[in-house]
Amino acid sequence: MYLDYAATTPIAPEAVDAMLPYLTQTGLFANPSSIQHGMGEAAESVVERSRSRIAEPCHGNAKDFVFTSGATEANNLAIKGIALAHRDRGRHIVTTAIEHKSVLDTFKHLESQSFAVTYLRPDSNGRIVPDDLLKSLSDETILVSVMQINNETGVIQPIEQIADALADKNIFFHVDAAQSAGKLPIDLSAIPIDLLSISAHKFYGPKGIGCLFIRNRKRTPLAPLLHGGGQEFGLRPGTLATHQIAGMAEAFGIAHERQAQDLDHAERLRKLLLESLQAAGDFVVNGDPTHCLPNIVNLSFANVDASALLIALRDQVAIASGSACNSGAVEASHVLRAMGIEGDRLYGAVRISFGRYTTETEIVSAGRSIAEAVERLRTLALE
Ligand code: PLP
Repeated sequence: MYLDYAATTPIAPEAVDAMLPYLTQTGLFANPSSIQHGMGEAAESVVERSRSRIAEPCHGNAKDFVFTSGATEANNLAIKGIALAHRDRGRHIVTTAIEHKSVLDTFKHLESQSFAVTYLRPDSNGRIVPDDLLKSLSDETILVSVMQINNETGVIQPIEQIADALADKNIFFHVDAAQSAGKLPIDLSAIPIDLLSISAHKFYGPKGIGCLFIRNRKRTPLAPLLHGGGQEFGLRPGTLATHQIAGMAEAFGIAHERQAQDLDHAERLRKLLLESLQAAGDFVVNGDPTHCLPNIVNLSFANVDASALLIALRDQVAIASGSACNSGAVEASHVLRAMGIEGDRLYGAVRISFGRYTTETEIVSAGRSIAEAVERLRTLALE
């Protein structure tokens, strides 16, 4: 059973159908930059149509969306791009201690380039306090980066409040929306966010494609990471992957059409999961119980080590300890640590995440398997 949707989702069949013609049909595989012939022009128009289909549900301007290989690249482009283009104005940048590694490691890199970084800690529920952020700003601050939904806890951050508070300041605001895009509404015409990262494989699109929203590129100049053929307004050169882009646009459209339905489904599954886990007794859910996306459940079972639980469940239920991108090495979650969680609760934390294609039967069965494994491990510990 696959309960690791926060790491990646299966691709929607409709997105696969949308991609196939650009892989197989004569002419449609043409390079979208080869606009000197009709086939290239046809491919280019698919790219531009897809850009508009992605911009529309977020009420953004299509020309403000730059395709990248995913959210890691979009985060790098946003953060390094702003820092390098605006370093003469100031060298202070602000983020949070609970960001994804693709943000944290980018800030670490900039620290080595003599930028001063503030890492804001969340409250014990995993939420950033906007007042703390405001207090951290100085005349030297050029960029603030805060994720919309945390990938380990599902906690929703007060992005609108932060954006409003920064609006009258000369500070760029970047949001990593990898976990929220397609799942929560976002109105870029109303919320003054300057840069927003999106990844298709988190909303039932293909892996290896995403985009960065850059509000009004003239007012938000960025230093590109790559240099080359000038594609994507010179900000992300390289031949565009028409099939990936078409698949992403299709998946994004469906995610928006089904948003309420997918959320309702996730709420039901969350309730059912927590009920089925009652049999395991003594566990605690980590993260804010109200400001959270229902499809990510982070919990710690008393007296049970997460790595032992993952091994016990290995061939039955696919869940994660901490964030999947860090797993392999069993290290305690930097997110839970920043929330002040320690000891057994820290080392016992697992992330269960599900979505559109998860059934109620699967959740009940997974809940049963997890409860049994927890009981076995507790009995073993007593022997
Ligand atoms: N940001 C967050 C919050 C994520 O959850 C992830 C993926 O796990 C990423 C960024 C990286 O996304 P991608 O896999 O598209 O590089």
